[in-house]
Amino acid sequence: MIKKFAKALRQHKILGLISHVNPDGDTIGSQLALYNWLTQNGIDALLFNDDPVPPNLVWLAHQEKIRVADAKMLDQCDGFLFVDGNHPSRFGAMSDYFEKTDKPVYLIDHHPDPPHQFFREKLWDAGVSSTACLVYTLYKETGLGKINKETAEALYSGIVTDTGSFRFASVTAETHFIIGDIIKVGGLSPSEIHERIYDDKNLSQYQLLGLVLQNIRLHCNNQVATIYVTQEMLTETGCILDDLEGFVNYPLSIKGVLVSVIFYERDDLVKISLRGKSAIDLNKTARVFQGGGHFNAAGAWLPGPLEKAIPKVVAEIASRIEGQK
Ligand code: 5GP
Ligand code: MN
Repeated sequence: MIKKFAKALRQHKILGLISHVNPDGDTIGSQLALYNWLTQNGIDALLFNDDPVPPNLVWLAHQEKIRVADAKMLDQCDGFLFVDGNHPSRFGAMSDYFEKTDKPVYLIDHHPDPPHQFFREKLWDAGVSSTACLVYTLYKETGLGKINKETAEALYSGIVTDTGSFRFASVTAETHFIIGDIIKVGGLSPSEIHERIYDDKNLSQYQLLGLVLQNIRLHCNNQVATIYVTQEMLTETGCILDDLEGFVNYPLSIKGVLVSVIFYERDDLVKISLRGKSAIDLNKTARVFQGGGHFNAAGAWLPGPLEKAIPKVVAEIASRIEGQK
């Protein structure tokens, strides 16, 4: 599968390399590591995302090359490679263009649902913790020694963020072997990367976290925790939505909590992020609200206001927990 995928990519002169909207460490880290693989293999690449790179990842090499796509730039590409998402709708405002294009479209991804049929070649494995692990296998198959320090940093960032610093159920011995190789071959310092990614908080973020943690509610026999963030809470603390990164994980540390959900207002919509401890399938739960993700980490958008969205989601989770009894 990997050799065939690599061979198909090598036929191109200039690929459009696209990470998913509302990007996380895995999609950006994988996109940048793939950029290096492509250029090392004589293929040029244009890097796209509708949304900005999260502030704690702007130190990654080549991230400044990621731009908002327009038709003129996409016309320059002779194919497209989608990173860390299994449907064109995950890749922003130009998804119509992608759905209509006759150019080859490729996918590298680890989301559980069978990839959308329009992808010509796929490097797809729902059993790995992150898309960055799949990019690593591409390097492994075609020359591990080509992983330089900047590629290693991008891959490490993808894996560390998508595994909640190696704590999620998706982590296996293989994940750690891969990390071992990345550290060794790339000559990177893990503690330096953890510092760059996680120790970049400012005081206002902790003040917002304080407000958010005051509104933790437990449901379903204390197995489900919810928290929410209003526009007023953001204004009061001077925070932006990017500052909420990781908040949803806090209630999961309460003994007995199996699912944690954060709700936040954005315009007239409510975004939810779900995190779990292998109790119910959160990908399926999010799909009820036209979202998606993984078994233990998923997201979706609901119509507002918060007061209506919260009970809807809690009821869906409750019925799934009940259904398992
Ligand atoms: P997060 O909660 O951090 O936004 O996302 C968790 C996981 O769910 C990630 O794998 C992300 O790609 C996926 N995800 C988040 N929001 C959506 C959405 O609206 N639609 C789909 N299909 N997946 C989502
Ligand atoms: Mn991922």
